[in-house]
Amino acid sequence: MTTNTVATEKLAILGGEPISATGLSFLAWPPAREETGQKLLDVFFSRKWSFNGPQEQAFAREFADYHGAKHGIFMANGTVTLQCALQALGVGAGDEVIIPALTWPATAMAVLYCGAVPVFVDVDADSLCIDHTLIEAAITPKTKAIIPVHLYGGMADMEAILEIARRHNLSIVEDCAHAHGGKWNGRGVGSWGHVGSFSFQESKTMASGEGGICLTNDDDLAERLYRLKHIGYPPASAQGKAGTSPAPDLVCSNFRGTEFQAVILRDQLADLKELIETYNANAAIIEERLAGVPGVRVQARGRLSGPQSYYAFAIILDDEIVTVPHAKICEAIAAEGLSINNTYGPVYKHVLWNLTGDKFRLPEGGCTVADTIGSHNCLVLLHWVLGSEPEVIEKIGDILVKVLSNLHALAATPGEAQEAEAAGSTQE
Ligand SMILES: *Cc1c(COP(=O)(O)O)cnc(C)c1O
Repeated sequence: MTTNTVATEKLAILGGEPISATGLSFLAWPPAREETGQKLLDVFFSRKWSFNGPQEQAFAREFADYHGAKHGIFMANGTVTLQCALQALGVGAGDEVIIPALTWPATAMAVLYCGAVPVFVDVDADSLCIDHTLIEAAITPKTKAIIPVHLYGGMADMEAILEIARRHNLSIVEDCAHAHGGKWNGRGVGSWGHVGSFSFQESKTMASGEGGICLTNDDDLAERLYRLKHIGYPPASAQGKAGTSPAPDLVCSNFRGTEFQAVILRDQLADLKELIETYNANAAIIEERLAGVPGVRVQARGRLSGPQSYYAFAIILDDEIVTVPHAKICEAIAAEGLSINNTYGPVYKHVLWNLTGDKFRLPEGGCTVADTIGSHNCLVLLHWVLGSEPEVIEKIGDILVKVLSNLHALAATPGEAQEAEAAGSTQE
């Protein structure tokens, strides 16, 4: 359906016909292909299960090549990749690291693991990534690095951020946990900054249960990163043969990955380009459907962005149309047959973030965009929803158009109206 006639139908939550009475089925995630299973068995019988085996070496090479980076250093997850990136860059006690307010807590935690202080900066209302115009006000003599997060696969403005970093002599770690295979101005994410960090946790767009990788173009950083994850050993040293010593400032650990993860990821990397094309095509279809709905917009792509990797498709609702609590909007969408996810809120409001105020820094007046986005006016479709079959994408478009065109019909009870207003007031 290309017209938005569904906009005039009665909402299922109010007694109308649901768009999908049976619920929708999405892309099965993570992928579990027969031939990958066979390769996993081959690894098993090879008895070569641990780090730096043939699968890991091949995967790290292929993944770095895909993103246009010189080195790939495979690790245990996408939190230690951030931690090691900062450690490799010499970030330590007393330093400050600038991060966006809207991200998964791991971005901020990694800064704390290094003994440094996370400094939150608000996000841009269109891209939902760090607002580069606010970065300079957050820089102090203690600032050592910036971690832009390519949230949901959208792109932080890397050219502007690199320019600021050059001017103030700061390091850049790109958190690409949502952006596998994304390109910006023709260049792969993770190859713009000093280090790019990726996660392969099961929910991500490349998934091996757990896992992560650092990309870098710098030979010295690549060696430091390898040593950091492998208790100090240099790259390509045989097990038990120490080779040379790590630099005295490196406190190295064991953040190694396994051959099982690498063999799964190699097959997914082979399919990544096609998957990204599907995400981009489906995102364009849904975006076009939503274009006519007043008060609704979608997360902006980067100004120079190429094909974007969609960890999620984010829909932003203007304050004026959010007249009922967010939960009620999700309920109305669910009643049509689509269960929908909430966005992240600001890290410093996350239930897992219970640190005292001396451990981090917030800008004066807080991060109002992140607060608003997080509290009530953003909906996200995760990548396995976005990767669905065409007829499902069409139904998703129908459901979103139908509900979001009719939020006014979701009459708020007096209590709910107050709640929605309270959520809206976080803007002030
Ligand atoms: C998932 C995620 C991480 C951490 O990755 P793990 O592999 O789960 O440790 C870091 N940053 C962002 C933005 C993430 O979404």
